[in-house]
Amino acid sequence: MPAHRLTPVTLKLQDGIPYADAYGDIYHSAEGGLEQARHVFLGGNGLPERWRGRRGFTILETGFGLGLNFLATWQAWREDRERPAQLHYVAIEKHPFAAADLERLHSLWPQLQPLSAQLCAAWPPLVAGFHRLMLDEGRIVLTLVFGDIADCLPDIQAAADAFYLDGFAPSRNPEMWSPQILARLNRLAAPESTLATYTVTGNVRRTLMQAGFLCDRPPGFGRKPQMLVGRFAPRWQQPPRVSVQDRRAIVIGAGIAGSAACERLAARGWQVTLIERHARPAQEASGNLAGIVMPMMSRDGNQASRLARAAYLFAIAQWARLGGIGTAFAGRQCGVLQLARDGEQARVQQATLQELGLPGDFVRWVEPEEVAAMTGNAASQGAWLFPRGGWVTPASLCEAMLAACGPNLVRLFGRGAAALERRDGTWMVRDAAGAEIANAPVVVVAGGIDAHRLHQTRNLPLDAVRGQVTHLDLGSENAPPLVICGDGYVTPEVQGLCTVGATYDVDAETALRRDSQEENLRRLAQLLPAVQADDAPAAELRGRVGFRCVTPDRMPLVGALPDADLPITGSRLRDVPRHPGLYGLMGYGSRGLIWAPFAAELLASVLEGEPLPIERSLFDVLDPARFALKAYRRG
Ligand code: SAM
Repeated sequence: MPAHRLTPVTLKLQDGIPYADAYGDIYHSAEGGLEQARHVFLGGNGLPERWRGRRGFTILETGFGLGLNFLATWQAWREDRERPAQLHYVAIEKHPFAAADLERLHSLWPQLQPLSAQLCAAWPPLVAGFHRLMLDEGRIVLTLVFGDIADCLPDIQAAADAFYLDGFAPSRNPEMWSPQILARLNRLAAPESTLATYTVTGNVRRTLMQAGFLCDRPPGFGRKPQMLVGRFAPRWQQPPRVSVQDRRAIVIGAGIAGSAACERLAARGWQVTLIERHARPAQEASGNLAGIVMPMMSRDGNQASRLARAAYLFAIAQWARLGGIGTAFAGRQCGVLQLARDGEQARVQQATLQELGLPGDFVRWVEPEEVAAMTGNAASQGAWLFPRGGWVTPASLCEAMLAACGPNLVRLFGRGAAALERRDGTWMVRDAAGAEIANAPVVVVAGGIDAHRLHQTRNLPLDAVRGQVTHLDLGSENAPPLVICGDGYVTPEVQGLCTVGATYDVDAETALRRDSQEENLRRLAQLLPAVQADDAPAAELRGRVGFRCVTPDRMPLVGALPDADLPITGSRLRDVPRHPGLYGLMGYGSRGLIWAPFAAELLASVLEGEPLPIERSLFDVLDPARFALKAYRRG
C-alpha cells in the first residue's frame, strides 16, 4: 500500500467498547477509557504538574484512536489554572475514524462534549499526511499525522515533553512497538521528557532503556497491576531547549505572504512591524480581484502535490478560524472544477483518484453530464471537483489577516526597505536615504521579487513572470456558479466581473496587452463554450497585469535565508551558513493564496521551536538554501 493512501477504520463495538478487527483488540480499557487516560497517560507523565510554569508543552502520542487521551489532556489543561499558554499535541494514526464516528463514540462522555464538538468540527478530510488543527482559539494545537508510524515517525520534527505510547497490545500489534520505532523516540525527546504506557512487556522496556529512558513500573489501571513510565536521562549530551526571549519581528512586504506572517506571529504574542513601500497592502502580485483556491494533484503523490494539499487544507481551516470565507473577507467556497482536456487526461484524472483513494469531501470525479448541469455548458469530458475550493480576493484577505493582529502589529506603509544591517543581534532596516525604519532580532523578507533590492537576498533565484487577467461582464446568467479550470480559469462574478486568466509571459510590460487578452478569450471559449464573450468586452481592454514571483523549481522559499558571503561546509542543507535571524517567505508563483497561511505557520513554528506542521522531508523541499546547495554539489 503506498504511503500516501489512507485506510480509515470502520467503527465496530464489542460490549460497547470500540474494537479494531484488524488487530483483534479494544481501543481502551473495559474498566473506563477516560479513567485509563487520566491514570496511565496523564498520571504516568506527571501531568498536569509537569507542564506548570512552562510557556508551551508538547505531547507526542502513538495511536490517536478515538482521541480519548487527547480529550482528557485538553480537559485537564482547561481546568488547570497554572497551565502553559500553548499545548502542542502531535498524534500518529494509521486508521483514523470518520468525524461522525468520533462524535458517536465521544457521546458516552457528556463531560467531554464541548471539546469533542470542537474537535469533530475541525476534523480534516481523511487524507494521508500532516493536519494541523488549531483548537481552543489556537491554544491547543493538534498535529494529526495520518499514516503508518514506521513511515511517519522519522518525518516528525518535534521536541516532546511527554510521550503517550498507545498502540494496542504489543502481542496484537508488534509493528507499533518494534525496536526500530521505540529506539527512534529519543530523537524526538525534549530534555527531561517522560513517557507512559500500559504495557510492561520486557522487550518494550529494554528498548526504551537503551534509547535513554530510565523506566519504572508503578501500579497500572484496572486489572493491570503495573504500567510503564520512563524519564529521558540519556548518557549522552542533549541539545538545549529552544527558548525565544525577544519576540519582535519585522516583516517586509504587505502582500499575501507578509500579511499571513504577521497574523501567525502576532497570534503567538510576537510584536510585529510591517514595512511596505505602497500605501496599502496587496498592491502587487496579490492585487487581483479573485485568486483561485485549489490543491494540486499528481498520480504518484509527489512532494509538490503533498505540500500543496497540506497548504490548501491548512488555508481553508485557517480562514474558517479568521471568521470564514465570504464573511471575514471577500471570497466564496463555491467549489472548483478542473476539466479534463481530452479523453486521455480524463483517464489519468480518474486513475489518480483510484490510486490516491482520496475522500469525496476533498475531491471527486464528475461525469460530463454533471459538469454540463453544473456549468450550463456542454462538456465533452468530466472533471475533478474540489468541493471546498473556490475564490478569494487576496487584498481583502490581507486586510482581514492584518486586522486579526490587533495591537501586536505596527504598520509602516509608504516606506521602502532598502538595506538590512545586523548589529549586536539586532537587524536594522534602513530606507534608501539610510534612515532607520525599524529594528528587531528577526526579519522576515516577504516582498516577492523585491528581495533583489536587499544585499542579503540579492542572489536568491527569483524570477518575475508576467500574468495578465481579463475582466469580463458576462451577465449573471452566463457567469459560472463555481470556478472552472482547464487551460486557465474563469471565476464566478466578483463585483460584477468574471476573471479569466492568466497568461504566462516572459516580458515585463506592465500595461494591459491585446494579445494577452485574446489569449484569455480563447481560454474562455474552451472553458465555457456556450458563452459568447461578445465584441464589446473583447474590444475593451479590461483586466490587470501582475508579476508572479517564481523559483526555478516552482516551489516557494520558506525558512532561514542563506548567507552567500560565507562558504558552504558540506553537502547537507544544515551545512549552508545562514544569516542569523533572517528568514524568507517568497516564490509563491500563482499559488500565493494557499501557500501563504501554511508557510507562515511553518515559519512561526520554526521560530518558536514548536513541532513542524509538516514532514521534515517536505520542509527541506522549501528550504531557501536548496539552490545554493545544489550549485555547491555541482562544484
Ligand atoms: N490513544 C487512543 C485514544 O485515546 O483513543 C487509543 C489508541 S488505540 C489503543 C491504538 C491506535 O493505534 C489505533 O487507533 C490504531 O489504528 C493505531 N495504530 C495501530 N497500528 C498503527 C501503526 N502502525 N501506525 C500508526 N497507528 C497505528
